[in-house]
Amino acid sequence: MKKGISYFGTRDLRWVKKDLDEIKRAKFSYIIHTFSEEDLRYYRQNLKEIIYESKKRNLEVFFDPWGVGKYFGGEPPSFFTSEYPEECIVIKNKRKPVACPNSKKFRNLLKEWSLFSIETGADGIFMDEPKLIDEKCLCKNCKGKNLKDSGIKLLKWIAELWKKENKKVSICLLPYSLKKDFLEIFFKSKNFDIIGTDPYPVLFNKNFDRESKNAISILKDYRGKYKKEIEIWIQAFKLKKKEENYIKKFYEFCKKEKIDRVSFWAFMGCYEMGHLRCERPFKVWEIIKKLY
Ligand SMILES: [Zn+2]
Repeated sequence: MKKGISYFGTRDLRWVKKDLDEIKRAKFSYIIHTFSEEDLRYYRQNLKEIIYESKKRNLEVFFDPWGVGKYFGGEPPSFFTSEYPEECIVIKNKRKPVACPNSKKFRNLLKEWSLFSIETGADGIFMDEPKLIDEKCLCKNCKGKNLKDSGIKLLKWIAELWKKENKKVSICLLPYSLKKDFLEIFFKSKNFDIIGTDPYPVLFNKNFDRESKNAISILKDYRGKYKKEIEIWIQAFKLKKKEENYIKKFYEFCKKEKIDRVSFWAFMGCYEMGHLRCERPFKVWEIIKKLY
């Protein structure tokens, strides 16, 4: 079982290097670097340096289009949705600040983002929680097209861009999106290598045990059929002290279930971002570090 960690926020190489050493010492084999629209606009040089330092430490590197167009999951704001509101989705006559999968301008942005990532040396893309909404979009580009079908087309198009360059493509679907119509498509497609989900306790009320086991069993069924890697995310954000023992317990469960990749969101219990920070981020990191 491979162990991965997501990393975000810090762009100052002096600190990033220290963190990467820490990550390497904790025996992680891959890292997911968030790469927002702000990074694409203002931090290209930093990203190049960060990738260089990550690869130097033999970490497999994935880039995450973090909050890009607000179409993918992530906290950062989007320039795209504020600069091109007419390229955003319209559901039941209400425009939402989310880029439309049928917008050519949005595709251009994703292409620019992908080409830069590939050129920089990323080993793969990690598409996090894409918004596959089963609704009609009434924007000028769609005129009633279904957003779920259009979204799948968009994701396949991005995957193809990366596969053409022999890169890995990983996708994370929210637990409630683990439905046959999505899974069949991504598992069947030769352009997706890793299919995952993030059954975070924060997503469920009291049903974490049942729901997380259910999510894992669904993915395992598909893996058996299609021979792809599956990835499970473990919550290392917003955890309260009393919830900390979930980490080891759930990690051990994943190990028992022979999950291919187990990833944590995120480094140092999200100390870097107050909004996501665990109650005891350093303690959380100590727990994660010891998991093998
Ligand atoms: Zn649209």
